[in-house]
Amino acid sequence: MLESLSERLEGALKVLKGENKLTEINVAASIKEIRRALVDADVSYKIAKEFTDRVKEKALGSDNVLKAVSPGQLMIKIVMDELTDLMGGQAAGLNLAGKPTVILIAGLQGSGKTTFSGKLAHWLKTQKKKSPLLVACDVYRPAAMDQLTVLAEQVGVPVYKEPESKNPVQIALKAIQYAIEHKCDVVIVDTAGRLAIDEEMMAEIKNIKEAILPQETLFVVDAMTGQDAVNTAQVFNETINFDGVVLTKMDGDTRGGAALSVKYTVGKPIKFASTGEKMDALELFYPDRMAQRILGMGDIVSFVEKAQEQFDEELAKKLEKKIQKNKFDFNDFMAQINQIKKMGDLKSIMGMIPGMDKLTRNVEIDNNAFKKVEAIIQSMTPKERTNPDLLNMSRKQRIAKGCGRTLNDVNMFIKQFEQMRKMMHNMSKMPGFGAGAPPAG
Ligand code: GDP
Repeated sequence: MLESLSERLEGALKVLKGENKLTEINVAASIKEIRRALVDADVSYKIAKEFTDRVKEKALGSDNVLKAVSPGQLMIKIVMDELTDLMGGQAAGLNLAGKPTVILIAGLQGSGKTTFSGKLAHWLKTQKKKSPLLVACDVYRPAAMDQLTVLAEQVGVPVYKEPESKNPVQIALKAIQYAIEHKCDVVIVDTAGRLAIDEEMMAEIKNIKEAILPQETLFVVDAMTGQDAVNTAQVFNETINFDGVVLTKMDGDTRGGAALSVKYTVGKPIKFASTGEKMDALELFYPDRMAQRILGMGDIVSFVEKAQEQFDEELAKKLEKKIQKNKFDFNDFMAQINQIKKMGDLKSIMGMIPGMDKLTRNVEIDNNAFKKVEAIIQSMTPKERTNPDLLNMSRKQRIAKGCGRTLNDVNMFIKQFEQMRKMMHNMSKMPGFGAGAPPAG
């Protein structure tokens, strides 16, 4: 995500490495690079210039005698704060106060509207414990209705459609009635898009909005289209006065212009970032976390949240006890692998850890990385899995044969496992391990 902008900004900040003070001269050199990086990321010159003027002012006005931080660190902090402000400062959140809450989804054809509608339903259901209803209001493309139906099935929510109707306003109104009768508390209305802005489409979406009075109107734009996305959003906003923007295809090779300039240009916040074709590839948009990611600091908060979503307290407590007693076994190891896998795509998880995104930027991360280890463990008998000390040479040979790996592979894995087990056991003796009482022994 936004790799090239990240690299360029890091380069611009490196200019200050080794300097012991922020001066007119070294700040100017850094600023010039930052401005170029922004313009190359498809941010307009005006926004880039204003941005760097503010950074410059803060840098030169800052307390240069701060001993604890280097000029480079100070500049990173200033740029991070400005990036956060540029993208809206605070996370915008979603208004779910309606009974039912009605969310209208608008955007150009191909922007990712229908996919987002499905993802939003999934997000509301799993993260907010809501009962959403998806509504197919694209009366021009039967395929769009089918696509929404497939997605609805996939995420396990009902869909409201009227294949014979050509009146999206009526469909939307009837869908709200249906939602009330069927106890759905959020109604997500997917509308028709066009290839480019046209009057007829604008009038239609305006009519729908005036009839159903949604709590939220979200405008979906493809982040890959850069400034075009921003311009389209601006024109749409003048007509339908939407509440927030959804940036899709943030997993692609987007340069960042849309993410950085939409809030400034249109005056509306980005509410969600869509990062893939899978139904769970959706994140609430946090300007500060995005700024951290852009500056190559990973996104440790999102990472922790993702981990917490999968965190099972009971399991963690059990595990803690086993580690303390040095009884961590292959079954526990397998359970850990499964937890990590549940967090999603490995590369995007790694990208959230500070420093890791740089290391993994040009590396193909294999989502099957655990396969080898899993195969080895699966070739063990239940007894061996709970009692790693049983593993003598003949058992190891049998395991290697069973999983189609070499004896060396098996030996290496078991050695690593033993080292890890020892390390965890030693750590468990340190003060502060776990959440509860100090460990015994
Ligand atoms: P609509 O015409 O606006 O409803 O757009 P669709 O939802 O049909 O999406 C258009 C294409 O973009 C489809 O092939 C989607 O799978 C793809 N797509 C949508 N969102 C994303 C995303 O966040 N990342 C990626 N990589 N592809 C996406």
